[in-house]
Order: sequence, then C-alpha cells, then structure tokens
Amino acid sequence: MSSVLTNAPAWTIPGFLEARDNNHLFISAADATALTYQYGTPLFVFSESRIRANIARLQAAAKKVDRPIKFCYASKANSNMAVLGVVRDAGIDIEVNSGGELFKALRAGFRPDQIIFNGTSKTDDELDEAVRAGIYSINVDSIYEIELVEDAMRRARSELNTGLPPARIALRLVPEIGTRSHLGLQTALLTSKFGISSSEVLDAFRRGLQNPDLIHVCGIHIHVGSQTPDVEPFAEAFKSMWNHLMTIHRETGLTLEHINLGGGIPVNYLRDRSQADQLPEHERDMLGAELEPSDVLTEALRVAREAARDAQAEHLLDQVTILLEPGRSVIADAGVVLTKVQNIKRRPETNDIWLLTDAGYNLLLSMNNYKWYYHLISASRACTSADAQYKVAGPLCDSGDVYFDIERHGRLPDYRLLPRDVKPGEVLALLNSGAYSLAQMFPYNGRPLPAAVMVRDGGRADLIRKRDTYEDLLMNDVW
Ligand SMILES: *Cc1c(COP(=O)(O)O)cnc(C)c1O
Repeated sequence: MSSVLTNAPAWTIPGFLEARDNNHLFISAADATALTYQYGTPLFVFSESRIRANIARLQAAAKKVDRPIKFCYASKANSNMAVLGVVRDAGIDIEVNSGGELFKALRAGFRPDQIIFNGTSKTDDELDEAVRAGIYSINVDSIYEIELVEDAMRRARSELNTGLPPARIALRLVPEIGTRSHLGLQTALLTSKFGISSSEVLDAFRRGLQNPDLIHVCGIHIHVGSQTPDVEPFAEAFKSMWNHLMTIHRETGLTLEHINLGGGIPVNYLRDRSQADQLPEHERDMLGAELEPSDVLTEALRVAREAARDAQAEHLLDQVTILLEPGRSVIADAGVVLTKVQNIKRRPETNDIWLLTDAGYNLLLSMNNYKWYYHLISASRACTSADAQYKVAGPLCDSGDVYFDIERHGRLPDYRLLPRDVKPGEVLALLNSGAYSLAQMFPYNGRPLPAAVMVRDGGRADLIRKRDTYEDLLMNDVW
C-alpha cells in the first residue's frame, strides 16, 4: 500500500493545480485524467485563468512602479490561436519573430500598433508585411537592416501608392551582459548572434536618421535572455539603454520614445523540490528562480534614475515608455502535458523499472536540447506519495528520448519519483510545460501531433488544437 500525503502536494497552486478527493490531478477544476478519456494522450492542457493570473501579476507590477508599461507577449513561447486570444483579451500587446507570427497576431485580432517584430534574419517579404501593416516597432538587428526596412518602405509606397507614415524601428542592442541561464538562452553576450554592439549604437542611430520620411527610430531594445534568475542583468541592461538614450539626446537633440527591456522573467520549475537536490547547483538556482516582475522594474528604474540625476536628465526618464516582452512567465506554468504509460519493463541486471510514455522530446524539445526539468507526477494518484524510482522515457526511436541526462552530465535526475506500482495505462503529468513546447513540436517518427485543450472558468474544457490524423502526416508530401 502506498501512503497518502496528508498535506497538499508541494506543486499545488490553489485554484489552478490541485489534487482533489478522488486522488486525481485537477487543472482549474477539470479532472486531468477524465480529459484524457475524452481527448486521448498525449494531451496539452492549458488554464485560461492561470494565463490571466500571470498577466495580472505583470500588470500589478506596472502599477506598483506607477509607470505606463507596455507588455508585449513573446508569441514564440506559444502562438496557439486560442492562447493568443486569451492574451489579447487580458489586455496586453504582442511580440512576433517572423512573418508567420505576425500573420497569426493580426488574425488573432491584435491591432498593428500592438505589435513589435524581432529577428536576426527577416526576409524582404516579412519586412514588406510589417511595413504595410504599420506595426508599433520593427526591431532591427544590424545597421545593414535599416536599409532593408527603407527599401521595404519604398516598395510599399510605390506599390500601394498611399501615404503610409514612416516605418517605426527600434535598435536591438547586444550589451555584453551575462546571466545565470543556459548559454543557448543568453542573448546579450557579444558572442551571441543578436543585436548591434554598444560601440555602433550612435552610428546606427545616425544612419536611422538619414531618411526620416521613410523610417522613424522610436526605441532601443535589449533582451538579456530567457529564464534570467536575477534582477541585476535586467537593471544593467536598462541602465545601458538609458545611457545610450541620453547620449543620443545629447548628440542629436532627439529623445527615443521607448526602452524595451525584453523578456526573460523566470518561472519556478521547482515548486516541488523533491528532486531538486539531484540537479547541479547552478541549474537548481536557475530553474527554481523566484523573481517578482515588480522587483525587476523597480531596480531598473532605480539605476536609471540615478544615472539620470547625475546627468540632470530626469525629465527625459518620465517621457519614456517601457516595454517588456514576457513569454515564458505568461504561459509556462499555465500548461501541462498529460502522457500515458504505454509499456513497462524491469531490467534484471540493474533492477531498474522503465516506464515508456507517449510523450517524447518531439513535444518537449527543451527536455532534450537544454535538459530542461519538467516535474513529473501521477495524474490519477496525485496525493499518493511519490517514493518509488523509475527510469522514464518517451516513445521515439532515439536513445536520447529519455527523461534523464543520457550524456551522464547529471543535468537531470537519473530517476523520476512516482507512486509505487505504476502500471501501463496510468496517466502522468509533466508540469510547467506550456512554454516552448506546443510551439516547437514536430511529427518525428510519424507521430501525429497531439491535441490541446483550454480549461475555462468553471472547469469546462474547449478543444484549442485538433489532434493530427495520419492524413495530416501526408499533407505536404508530393508524390
Ligand atoms: C524569446 C524572446 C523573448 C521571450 O523570452 P521569455 O524568456 O520567454 O520571456 C522576449 N524577447 C525576445 C527578443 C526574445 O527573443
């Protein structure tokens, strides 16, 4: 007999993620196990109220610093149309990284002035689309790209023959600021592929002023990286942009309208710390980060105000709009992947029990390429204490499709803790898996992509993505 926990499990988030009386996991009052009966597995489940709560937390942070802050949801974290609809309805704006995301944002009902467009390698077609839509800001990634935006504007004017106002651009900078996140998620190092270096900023700005009838330089942008656990890199980035803004003002007399501090507000993936001590210390600190958005803003404004006071430019600071581009912090903990144990084996030589699920790294790419930790629980025995060890693996025909670090670098626990006596058919839940998952999934091994549902207030679940069929696997093949 497995013992039953007397307290609420550590991963509980009241009202959103709970173990209820029947020992089942409930997601915003919907029984997760019951959802799998209806929709099958693997299944993505999102909570509308959790997305709204995450956005409300950001909006409360803006209130606390008493500044108008423009939040632009980084849609690459999850651009499902129903998710975008909830985000838009909650009253924030959007950041896109491609023509496809721009298309989806417009289709989801975001107004052009709510959209900013980032990216290192925008195509002429993408710039044409952005310029013609008249979006809030195209963030250029190099001095060269300024010319490309001007060209797009010339094309738009000559083809549409209308009085399109100048395209609004911002300069994406790379300030050489490190964070304690994964190297692949750090974006402000000079060794990263992003942005214009500090030494070129003034030149870039002057270049941006050459054709004011075509483009208008309205802002400056830094994204220090994803899952940034500390406040300092944000403050340093903000100060760096603020200093550039003051220099530009001094040298040209012009004041930029906005400073964009990017995304990267972290999510606590280790609310349940039962396996945390099996992670390397720096991973543990990064994955378990608790950072209040209001602290980020307060500290950023504090250092900027200090610099402004020294330069007697405080009046400028009050004119500047601050942008943030949160992705992960909006959607990560609002999503859960439900997966079923399909097969089980015990290896006599090692005595390991292997659980083979139907959720592989084709659904959670980060688990493989960043060895990202997603806490795993039983959805049908959510209050039963998890004191048995299992090797857990996905269904793909690839030895790397495992829930541990096959390279033996110890970046994930070797075993996952679940209740004793897990049997095939038991539904498991990977928590905090709403960001960079659905948006990155692919049908490797001929695996039709899964369905997704959104749980609304009161516990009703709406299908927000149909499960692929075998026919979908053939869709674009030509033979
Ligand atoms: C990915 C990205 C974001 C979002 O980062 P999160 O860690 O998901 O908040 C924001 N801005 C830019 C430019 C990005 O590339």
